Amino acid sequence: MTMINLSTEAQSLNERMQELDLAGRLSLAASLGGRVVFTTSLGIEDQVITHFIGENRFDIDVVTLETGRLFPETVQLIADTESRYGMEIRRFFPEKADIDAYAAQYGLNGFYDSVEARHACCGVRKVKPLARALAGASIWVTGLRRGQSGNRADTPFAEYDGERNLIKINPLADWDMEKINCLVADEAVPINPLHARGYPSIGCEPCTRAIKPGEPERAGRWWWENDEKRECGLHVPEAALPSLESSEL
Ligand code: SF4
Repeated sequence: MTMINLSTEAQSLNERMQELDLAGRLSLAASLGGRVVFTTSLGIEDQVITHFIGENRFDIDVVTLETGRLFPETVQLIADTESRYGMEIRRFFPEKADIDAYAAQYGLNGFYDSVEARHACCGVRKVKPLARALAGASIWVTGLRRGQSGNRADTPFAEYDGERNLIKINPLADWDMEKINCLVADEAVPINPLHARGYPSIGCEPCTRAIKPGEPERAGRWWWENDEKRECGLHVPEAALPSLESSEL
């Protein structure tokens, strides 16, 4: 499909999804044809989406980016979720050669030293594996919500991703944490125990801290950086990441 057609299709989907519930949005996404991929971080929002995919057997590939720096609790949750829903969550790892090159240039934990070094690490451990995970996909399902941060306040239900030439679907865009928590409690959805210890948003272990009462949900992610730069590159166009050079993608 051409770029213009995909863009028009995304606008149409965005309007249709406003009237649907979560199961309806996922069912519609699965029915669009081509490869449909859901990338889960195993965070509580993503567990809600995985629950609906698993319970309804939607034809959606569930994948995760196994960065090599995840919390042990997150790694365990991948296995527990596969067991609960009888599904495979396919792991995409960084390339060893990329990790070695990063460590040689910046040091293994060089991401604390500069925004450039941090984006380079996310580029190697997340953005490049994401490109492999989405290879051949026509639809990319995510757990983005408008309430997660200022960067995400305008998240639509469906949008055209020109960089990857696919349609990105955010079926939880209008959900709030109260609704998510109710669903998780009612359906006994398995979640990361770190959420109960002050981690509403969970990424790599060295780059995530617990938040204090009243702090924004993503305040614990890359907490040493300024707010406007705190994304990993998965949901931000390359041009909007000034320190993320194309060679790092
Ligand atoms: S979140 Fe931290 S450890 Fe994980 S890929 Fe990004 S910089 Fe590297």
